[in-house]
Amino acid sequence: MTENENHRDIIIIGCGPAGLSAAIYAARGGAKTAIFSGMLPGGQLIQTMEVENFPGFPEAVPGADLMQKMMHQVKRLGCEILGEEIIKVDFETKPFKFTASSKKVFTADSVIIATGAKARWLGLPSETKFRNKGVSSCATCDGFFHRNKDVCVIGGGDTAAEDALFLAKFSNKVYLVHRRDKLRTNRRSEEKLKANPKIEILYDSTLDEVLGSDKVSGVKIKNVKTNEIKEINLSGVFIAIGHTPETSLFKDKIEIDAQGYIKTDGHAKTSIEGVFAAGDVMDPNYKQAVIAAGTGAVAAMETLKYINIAR
Ligand SMILES: Cc1cc2nc3c(=O)[nH]c(=O)nc-3n(C[C@H](O)[C@H](O)[C@H](O)COP(=O)(O)OP(=O)(O)OC[C@H]3O[C@@H](n4cnc5c(N)ncnc54)[C@H](O)[C@@H]3O)c2cc1C
Repeated sequence: MTENENHRDIIIIGCGPAGLSAAIYAARGGAKTAIFSGMLPGGQLIQTMEVENFPGFPEAVPGADLMQKMMHQVKRLGCEILGEEIIKVDFETKPFKFTASSKKVFTADSVIIATGAKARWLGLPSETKFRNKGVSSCATCDGFFHRNKDVCVIGGGDTAAEDALFLAKFSNKVYLVHRRDKLRTNRRSEEKLKANPKIEILYDSTLDEVLGSDKVSGVKIKNVKTNEIKEINLSGVFIAIGHTPETSLFKDKIEIDAQGYIKTDGHAKTSIEGVFAAGDVMDPNYKQAVIAAGTGAVAAMETLKYINIAR
């Protein structure tokens, strides 16, 4: 093992639920571990006021409070959190090399990538204004707040279809707004959407504006064929046009799938020995904090096995 002040047994890139959960297991496993937190210490969850589905919090907890608790736990267990971004990685020689935003170079015997994913947005000013005030990219997270109310889902793929079906379970009415004349989802989902009396599909339509004062009260929907604009009163707007995983740093260095997610073997191992991945960056399906934390724990347990073997 390398004896050097910039060397760690494990480096974790990313300080969301996946990276922090990995750090808890790594630190308790006796590994000298550092997390690089990048621009968003605490990860995506700090952007939400209420998390109601993380076990152990019987009342809704603000995302920022939950993540502060996780960071506190990690530090108490002896893991450093370094407030820098990693701007370059070198997995070709061992130990692996990492250049931080300060240009300092760190080395590690193994790495856990937990850089997350970003929801894609349409880019409308009114969409940005009402984010977390009725505009959301996560039906699983925020759907529950619209019980017995009307909502819309923007998109026409599998995620939009799943979100609309999920929301229809407790919302009063769901408008599925799709810019083309045909959905891009599988036949089974399309049948279910059409059979659900609570769902109305608005084809050839786009979101023109989100309306409201302090929170969402409606939307303007534009028919792209007729240019007709209609207003709909509703309380929630769910943008379901996909996510972009934060993998640009690893392009051509490890295997990445066609959608940009890091490929793993189901046990957090990537295409390079000693490089592990956890959380939204390798999860095209679920994107939930508890799942990110679970995969973080798996990654750390596999990494501990790897460094013990490698030594
Ligand atoms: C508004 C909103 C509300 C949500 N609500 C819920 C909810 O109620 N319940 C739920 O379960 N899930 C919710 N989610 C989803 C949940 O936040 C994510 O599934 C979860 O945060 C993913 O965790 P992660 O650790 O994989 O990545 P992230 O939380 O995205 O964290 C990624 C980390 O990587 C860091 N990073 C990225 N690049 C670099 C780099 N080059 N160098 C160093 N660090 C880097 C970032 O700064 C960040 O710290 C919500 C998401 C959003 C956006």
